Amino acid sequence: MSAFVGQFSGRLTIDLGAISRNWKGLDRISANALTGAVVKADAYGCGMLPVAQTLSRAGAQFFFVATPDEGIALRAVLPDAYIFILNGLFPGAAKLYAEQRLMPLLASLSMLDEWLKMCIEVGDALPAGFHFDTGMNRMGFRLQDASIVQNRMQSSGYRPQVIMSHLACADVPAHEKNSTQRALFQALLAQFPNIPASLANSAGTLGGRENHFQMVRPGISLYGGRAVQGRPNPMSSVITLEMPILQIREARTGETVGYGAAQTLNRDSRLAIVGTGYADGYMRSLSSSNGRPGGHVALNGKLLPVIGRVSMDSIVVDVTELGPNAPEAGEMLEIIGPNISIDDLADNADTIGYEILTSLNGRFKRRYRDEHGNVSES
Ligand SMILES: *Cc1c(COP(=O)(O)O)cnc(C)c1O
Repeated sequence: MSAFVGQFSGRLTIDLGAISRNWKGLDRISANALTGAVVKADAYGCGMLPVAQTLSRAGAQFFFVATPDEGIALRAVLPDAYIFILNGLFPGAAKLYAEQRLMPLLASLSMLDEWLKMCIEVGDALPAGFHFDTGMNRMGFRLQDASIVQNRMQSSGYRPQVIMSHLACADVPAHEKNSTQRALFQALLAQFPNIPASLANSAGTLGGRENHFQMVRPGISLYGGRAVQGRPNPMSSVITLEMPILQIREARTGETVGYGAAQTLNRDSRLAIVGTGYADGYMRSLSSSNGRPGGHVALNGKLLPVIGRVSMDSIVVDVTELGPNAPEAGEMLEIIGPNISIDDLADNADTIGYEILTSLNGRFKRRYRDEHGNVSES
C-alpha cells in the first residue's frame, strides 16, 4: 500500500461479505470436495489478512499462498489453518517451513529429498503436498519421475497430504487440453492410491465435477473475477474504486489531449481531469487515440470515455454528454464498480481481471465492508 494516502486520494472499497458469499457458493458447487482458498499476492490485491480471516469465519481451512513469506504472515493470524506454499520448497528453508507449519507443494526430487531429510531431522512426517506437472511446464515433478517419487515414499514411509496438478486451459472448458491433462492426472493417481487429489482452480471448479477430485483451489472467483470465458460470471463483485475529479475544463474542436497529442477533439468538449493514472494501477493500455477507443469511467450509471493517453497521476474523461449535469471538481467517479467490472476494465486494457486486481496498489484509501455491512478504513 502506498505511503502517500490521505484525504486527497480515491477510495477502494473491498466487500468482505461478498468474498465470504463467493467462497460459500464455490463450496456448494464443489459439493463433496473440500474447498480451499487461494490468497497469494495479498489475496489478489484485496488484502491477505482481512480476506483470510473472513474466509476462515466462512469455514475455509485450507489456504494456498505463493511464498513462505506470505505463509508466515498468514500463520500469524490463522494459527490453526492448513497453509500450502504453491511455489514449493525454497532451498535451505525446510526448517522455517517446519517451525511455521507451512506445507510446501514439493515439485522436484531435490525439494523432496530436502523435505524428507528435514522429516528425519525433526523425527516427524512433516505434512506436504506433491505437485505434478501434467502439461503446463510450470511447477511440478515430471510425470516420468512418478516411479522415483513412489520409491522414495516406499523407502521412507512418507505419505503426502495431497497430490496436485494444474490445468493450463480451464478457462475454456471445451479445450481438449483439459481432458488430456485430466487423463494424465487420473493415471498418475492410480500409482498413488488413497491420497487426496486436487486439480481445479476457479475455472476448473466452475467447469465441472470431473475436475473436483478431493479438493478445489479457487482464487479469482473469490474476488469476483471472471474465471470461465464466454459464460455469465456467477460470482458477486467484490471491489469498488472511486477517484476524485481534480478539474473541469472546456476544450475546443481540433485541440489535442494528453501526451503524444494522440487524441484530437472532434467537437467542443467538456473534460474532467481525474486523479488516477498508471501509477495507481489504471493501466496505460486504457489510453485512447484517434484510431482506437480507450477505457471508461462511470457517473450515476452513465459510462464516460477516457480520452488521450493515461498519465502517471491522471486521466482525462469526456463529460460533454452530461451537459448541464456535468460533475464538479472534488466529485468522485466510478473507476470499478456496479457499472464497470474488473473484467470490463481488463477487456478494454487487453489484459485479465487478475492483473487489474493485483495492480491496484495505488494512492487510495482502502475501506473494508465486513459480513455485517460495517465499513472500516484500514
Ligand atoms: C493461482 C493458482 C490457483 C488459483 O487460480 P484461479 O484461476 O485464481 O482460481 C490455483 N492453483 C494454482 C497452482 C495456482 O497457481
